[in-house]
Amino acid sequence: MESVTHLLAQLGADLSSWHGRDLHCTTPITGDTLASLHADTPHQVAEKIGRAQRAFEQWRCVPAPRRGELIRLFGDELRASKEALGRLVTLESGKILQEGGGEVQEMIDICDFAVGLSRQLYGLTIASERPGHRMMETWHPLGVVGVISAFNFPVAVWSWNAALAFVCGNSVVWKPSEKTPLTAIAVQALFTKAMARFGSDAPQGLSELIIGGHERGQELVDDARVGLISATGSTRMGRAVAQACAQRLARTILELGGNNAMIVAPSADLELAARAIVFSAVGTAGQRCTSLRRLFVHEGVYDTLLARLRKVYAALPVGDPLKSGTLVGPLIDGAAFDAMQNALARARAQQGQVCGGERLDVPGCPSGFYARPALAEMPDQTEVMHHETFAPILYVVRYQKLEQAIAWNNAVPQGLSSSIFTTDMREAELFMSTLGSDCGIANVNIGPSGAEIGGAFGGEKESGGGRESGSDAWKAYMRRATNTVNYSHALPLAQGVSFDF
Ligand code: NAD
Repeated sequence: MESVTHLLAQLGADLSSWHGRDLHCTTPITGDTLASLHADTPHQVAEKIGRAQRAFEQWRCVPAPRRGELIRLFGDELRASKEALGRLVTLESGKILQEGGGEVQEMIDICDFAVGLSRQLYGLTIASERPGHRMMETWHPLGVVGVISAFNFPVAVWSWNAALAFVCGNSVVWKPSEKTPLTAIAVQALFTKAMARFGSDAPQGLSELIIGGHERGQELVDDARVGLISATGSTRMGRAVAQACAQRLARTILELGGNNAMIVAPSADLELAARAIVFSAVGTAGQRCTSLRRLFVHEGVYDTLLARLRKVYAALPVGDPLKSGTLVGPLIDGAAFDAMQNALARARAQQGQVCGGERLDVPGCPSGFYARPALAEMPDQTEVMHHETFAPILYVVRYQKLEQAIAWNNAVPQGLSSSIFTTDMREAELFMSTLGSDCGIANVNIGPSGAEIGGAFGGEKESGGGRESGSDAWKAYMRRATNTVNYSHALPLAQGVSFDF
């Protein structure tokens, strides 16, 4: 096992101020302890938010394109450290090296996007009904943005939020998952380096990090100085955060659980579909919010596709994610493995035919939870399929009519991502239409996972309703003012009202 101290040193992160006994950081690869840290106290959380509030008051005065320059420098730091940070992501979260590096690439991509955005925070001009008047919209920074992130994308999720929040003129306070604090400490070190290169315009406190469990997250959520909470994680967490924020009428972006489906139609390119299915269902060991969990296959191609999938599943290289050739790493912990076994038992009880799902011994990793990805052929969309189990389980159901498959796609409480494989234009258009998928992401001839940062990312229903990343997601990190300017010598009132005195 590679030394985490060495990697952290390479990334410029110093753990000495974090040593303690509150959080034992382990690697899911072997179960070994990587470091023991102390958690922030409630008092420290309040202090950090205070520093971020003061930083915001300065940072909002820095012109947006100049703010973009800080993000350009941060992108440079990420480029220089991509390999080391990617390895640390692998060590802490267990995803394979390709995916660890891919996550850092996503950070670099959002930095590039945000640099361009820093010169494009456009408002509208609007026709006024009154002569000699002009209306317009202007966009202003919000304040302190709180980011709460999950273990499975330990660094990318923060960057989707933070890169936009910073160019929009906000400061950011980050509460990463208690399962992955080391990558957060490393990212904070890289950001501090970028701030040092940027100079004194970047105030201390612009980016604050809170280490600790969900209680520290709750304190961030409850603090009236935090104008927006962007929280990524389970639907259970999202419900609690939504209620707390509603109580004080704070803004939220919620990125919660998914239960994503794919439809494979009779005209589909089956080889393409098989590749997309395997990547989406077993990539990151089924621990992506966009992982493929439900597969609806037309009866005409069911046997051919399933024969191919069973063969691929039986030979999938599951093992140490640091080794080249591995495609499926470990689950995050024993609780995740137990949840997987529980779901498979329910699938069997609901007349499912399950293959795979058993624990695998990986040499040198006796305490890691490695599981063979499972295929569960179901007679119908049964109860177990309505829940997100964060593990590599793919439920498969046969369908006859596309309308039925679309209805199944939409029949679950979640609404994050979805896709269809078809070469029939009518089917593809129907799937993307108002009568089609009800998800935030609806793809054609590509799986539901692996989004690009250029599009707005997020889902509907219990998936939270938030949008992050590309398109106009930046608007959630700013407040909009409508300005009406009178350059005439009269005071005409709107709606023709006269108010003479
Ligand atoms: P989790 O909900 O257990 O924890 C996520 C974060 O929320 C952690 O930092 C945790 O400390 C914090 N938290 C928990 N309860 C809180 C509360 N009441 N108040 C404030 N903070 C609280 O999730 P996890 O197990 O780390 O991640 C897996 C889940 O995240 C899956 O459901 C997955 O689908 C979802 N996810 C969604 C997206 C998305 O973009 N939609 C992306 C990644 C992960």
